[in-house]
Amino acid sequence: MVAAACAIAVWYTIETSARLGPATTNQALLVLLAFNSVAVLTGLVLSTVLGERARAMRELRGRHDELEARVRERTREVERANRAKSDFLATMSHELRTPLNSLLILAGMLRDNPVRNLTPKQIQYVHTIHSSGTDLLALINEILDLARIESGAPVRLDPALVRLADLQVYVEQTFRQLAVEKGVGFRVELDGAPAEIRSDQRRLQQILKNLLANAFKFTRRGEVALRVAPAAAGWSAGRSSLEGAAQVVAFSVTDTGIGIARDKQEMVFEAFQQADPSTSAEYGGTGLGLSISRELARLLGGDISVSSEPGRGSCFTLYLPGDAGSAP
Ligand code: ADP
Repeated sequence: MVAAACAIAVWYTIETSARLGPATTNQALLVLLAFNSVAVLTGLVLSTVLGERARAMRELRGRHDELEARVRERTREVERANRAKSDFLATMSHELRTPLNSLLILAGMLRDNPVRNLTPKQIQYVHTIHSSGTDLLALINEILDLARIESGAPVRLDPALVRLADLQVYVEQTFRQLAVEKGVGFRVELDGAPAEIRSDQRRLQQILKNLLANAFKFTRRGEVALRVAPAAAGWSAGRSSLEGAAQVVAFSVTDTGIGIARDKQEMVFEAFQQADPSTSAEYGGTGLGLSISRELARLLGGDISVSSEPGRGSCFTLYLPGDAGSAP
């Protein structure tokens, strides 16, 4: 470009100097010299700047690629560590379950005292062994469940049509007696919900059992209710399986129990977290139920949310795609 500008300037000077006198020609040549020097200098500066810029760009791209490679490597390391942790938990839980099962079977046989040779005190001890063993087994099963889900290993789902009336019978059978024993009211309502939805019945029962067991555990007086109804909102943003569903069904478990402080309402969904660890001796539990329930809900294409007020009660709501035709 600089060369072209210089060439045009030379051509123009020659053209015009032929028509002018020698004095003006000398002046024109001087101007031409000055113009060409400035043009060449500008060209030199420009080419240096452009060269520098290209070098900086190359360096930047190199750094960017290097950083990207490092992030990829770190992500792989974290994934490897996470998988190793989950594999360890899964193996340990499995190894613990086998001897524990035999212990429970034998304690169960002893508890029945078939040859009537145990004293009442001894029978009481066996009862304690059996119930502690059962708690331990439940804990191990929960850890195994969570490890399986967290490891990213495919969790087998059995999608099928679930009749909500059957679900109502299941929760009645599981919790009615407990409600009577605790002197707490218990209501199950199907309020405009579809007759059936497509989901994994066992997993759905597991989530509702967790939510209802918590509701009864943390409620001394008043009422626990399960209401199943269509819903239009309430789940966390971005759950495409719910947003894209023709219908969403909400399973709301409401209680009049101790409630959860606002700043603890998200934390209770994390593994091994309890709203108030100082009350764990009173209420028991491990802080795993809600994290498993939320993971399971998400596997089923749904979500769980909570609203609660300390001293007044809580409402945990499970949202599931409610179309009878959609697979989880
Ligand atoms: P766990 O009940 O075994 O401790 P969860 O994960 O089911 O474990 O619950 C975590 C915590 O959330 C509980 O320890 C309790 O602090 C709080 N929580 C859950 N459900 C309720 C409820 N219905 N009312 C009050 N607090 C609750």
